[in-house]
Amino acid sequence: MDQLFLQSVPILEKIEQAGFEAYFVGGSVRDYILGRPINDVDIATSATPLEIKSVFPKTADIGIDHGTVLAITPSGTYEITTFRTEGGYSDFRRPDSVQFVRSLTEDLQRRDFTMNAMAMDKAGNIIDPFNGKRDLSEQRIITVGNPHERFHEDALRMMRALRFVSQLGFGLDRETYHSLQANASLIGKIAIERILVEFEKVMSGAYKKRAITLLLESGLSQYLPQLSDKQDHLLNVLNLPLDHLKEAELWSVIMIQTADEEMEAALRAWKLPVKTIRNIQRIVQLAKQEPSFGKSAFEVFQAGHDLTVQAFKVRAALTRGDVMKAEESGRHLHEALTLKNMSELSVTGTDLVNWRQEKPGPWVKTSLEMIVKAVLNGQVRNDKEEIKRWLVKCNLS
Ligand code: ATP
Ligand code: MG
Repeated sequence: MDQLFLQSVPILEKIEQAGFEAYFVGGSVRDYILGRPINDVDIATSATPLEIKSVFPKTADIGIDHGTVLAITPSGTYEITTFRTEGGYSDFRRPDSVQFVRSLTEDLQRRDFTMNAMAMDKAGNIIDPFNGKRDLSEQRIITVGNPHERFHEDALRMMRALRFVSQLGFGLDRETYHSLQANASLIGKIAIERILVEFEKVMSGAYKKRAITLLLESGLSQYLPQLSDKQDHLLNVLNLPLDHLKEAELWSVIMIQTADEEMEAALRAWKLPVKTIRNIQRIVQLAKQEPSFGKSAFEVFQAGHDLTVQAFKVRAALTRGDVMKAEESGRHLHEALTLKNMSELSVTGTDLVNWRQEKPGPWVKTSLEMIVKAVLNGQVRNDKEEIKRWLVKCNLS
């Protein structure tokens, strides 16, 4: 068993000693069988949240209405969720009610795909009532039960199907795929925050091209905010080298043709953090710049290391160049600057004010920029005395 599971076995034992069932469930079991790295283990139990709270001295109620309690133990914190079924989905996204049950199989049945509906006991035995193991070995994503019903219950499952395509490179079962096509519009019922979590996983998986292809072919992309008018562009994007692009870089590629104000609105509609939006806007600006960004040392200085690398990568992707090479070039270009940021400059605004005996004002910033440019271009060394002499010589002091 994986180390993470072994570490958590005492937690299962503790719950069992109190007279309840407890298993590892969900993604960790799937990834373990696949031999993929496991991030965190989820535990499911027949005990109710209150019963779990009586088993562990220290707990936190992180989602108690849905049956999840956080057990805080000396060996770590564990999410423990009571077996549950979900009843009635009148809004295509949230169960009208959640019912705690004592049967593991019932709990596994409410899960989205067969590969996610397996459990493992403390001895490593797999409980697999829906043939998840077979579907894993056949690399197939298939809903537990009727896909039409399952997507009607919670339309986010359609996005989840595609994010698993992207992460695992699996195919969608025929019926599951047809149902996804037929129900694509239901994704519009889902809160954008939940879609974003899955969409970002679609964009960052090793098989993102396959997943984006399905996103387009299935029609799902037409119902995602701001993407319905970008279908042709997205098709072109698929032919670009996307492998080494990170999230903000991929958003930049997607948004490259969009005017700045429109881009802002689009990214806000996706509820991306403002910091990320600003970053994407800057990347797009630099990647589109003509003559191309990077020709002037001052521009690279102003952009800084990260943005320089990002803009180089995006430009390379858009021109079908070598993204990894571009990343290296961007990094080298920044490394080669004689000055990497303002704090490395050996004179400060205060020095200028003292030398010139003049009131501080916008001129300080202008002068500092001019000095930076001169240092970057090799006109003057980054040395306080030399800069002072250079300023006198230029009649600026
Ligand atoms: P990851 O490794 O990315 O966390 P995961 O499969 O663990 O993948 P989570 O979102 O953490 O995904 O969900 C944990 C488990 O809960 C899933 O494996 C699945 O069994 C179940 N699950 C999550 N979301 C849904 C959903 N919308 N509908 C049904 N079951 C779900
Ligand atoms: Mg998980």
